[in-house]
Amino acid sequence: MKNEELKNRDLNVLWHPCTQMKDHESLPLIPIKKAYGVYLEDFEGNRYIDAVSSWWVNMFGHTNSYINEKVKEQLQTLEHVILAGFTHEPVIKLSERLVKLTPKNLDKCFYADNGSSAVEVALKMSYHAHLNDGKQKSLFVSLTNSYHGETIGALSVGDVELYKDTYKPLLIRSVQTPVPKDMSLDAAVVAAKSFEDLCLQRHNEISAIIVEPLIQGAGSMHMYHPEFLVLVRDICNRYDIHLIADEVMVGFGRTGEMFACEKAKISPDFLVLSKGLTGGYLPLSVVLTSNDIYAKFYCDYNEHKAFLHSHSYTGNALACAAANATLDIFENENIIEKNRVLAQYMGEKLQKFKDLPNVASVRQTGMVCAVALQGYKPEERIGLRVYQYGLNHGVLLRPLGHIVYFMPPYIITKEEIDIMMDTAYEAIVRLI
Ligand SMILES: *Cc1c(COP(=O)(O)O)cnc(C)c1O
Repeated sequence: MKNEELKNRDLNVLWHPCTQMKDHESLPLIPIKKAYGVYLEDFEGNRYIDAVSSWWVNMFGHTNSYINEKVKEQLQTLEHVILAGFTHEPVIKLSERLVKLTPKNLDKCFYADNGSSAVEVALKMSYHAHLNDGKQKSLFVSLTNSYHGETIGALSVGDVELYKDTYKPLLIRSVQTPVPKDMSLDAAVVAAKSFEDLCLQRHNEISAIIVEPLIQGAGSMHMYHPEFLVLVRDICNRYDIHLIADEVMVGFGRTGEMFACEKAKISPDFLVLSKGLTGGYLPLSVVLTSNDIYAKFYCDYNEHKAFLHSHSYTGNALACAAANATLDIFENENIIEKNRVLAQYMGEKLQKFKDLPNVASVRQTGMVCAVALQGYKPEERIGLRVYQYGLNHGVLLRPLGHIVYFMPPYIITKEEIDIMMDTAYEAIVRLI
């Protein structure tokens, strides 16, 4: 009853993200009453395993008691303060920890409040850093099939047609260089060669290349070899081009290391973090960069040299408290190590999908697994059918087109992995 009532009230006044609202004439919205651990529960007592970590943000389960406690504690003393001219302990502590945890030469933290805005910050800083050096470089390079968010600048460097096409006349200039076509070393070398060819011709114009290290999330969980990042880092060094690592999705352990760049042992000029940063609690994002780049903006007052960018909620204290609590859990509970066991278990279970005639391939990087289906036309919307089957059987799967993937919170148990992956398997079998 309550479910029905809320659905109707919702559709009266809400417009949901990334949704054709007419779909909700047949596809029921699901009002969630409460959530705990990997579970979401609706008003009729149905539970769903959150196999997508609520759009890739949740790390240690919903209403995690430790994070709850830390956010409540913060709430008693300071909820928010302007970060220009003022500061607070949670943001200082978080910055010290991030500088320590991330690859070397990332020494300064600049905050925003979502992934897209942080991408905008990195693009503007890159352009502005060159400008402060007396160089006009206004072209950004990104990878084919990449995704960096929905604001105009972030959308411009993305390459998922579905999100981008409509807005083409509004976008800023960017060029795409091929992403490695698969996870092989060969593909990495071939793709890096294309990037080098582009740099050879246009390095004078190119400010930065922005990449999603190892996994292109919204680009159907496409994965590639770490060597690509090693080669790109080297090319960037030689052509005076910045490397922006957009780890909004892959950061905080998704790839098996705390940060994906560690798998290639490289340091980007800008590291962009968001989604998992607060454990999935509150909106927050950050761009880390080097003391070298910071120094290019540091001078006696000159209105053109300082980075005059801000967001109202920059460095929100509650969000920083949630982020600090999230980092405590990583530290205290040896999460990266524990995840290796879970990742291996998911990897073993992934193998049996390969035998299905409608499965083209499976792939995995760390805590992210994907199953690519084959033999369907887009208008068949098979992703939607897998989604609905999942919901009817207690699992929130949200396929990207014909890619069914698993990216659960790290507190998932083996028994819950069984339910999550067996349900997806059944859903795929039913499509045959
Ligand atoms: C989700 C995502 C973004 C955008 O973050 P929002 O918080 O949704 O604006 C940017 N880059 C990558 C790689 C992402 O996965």
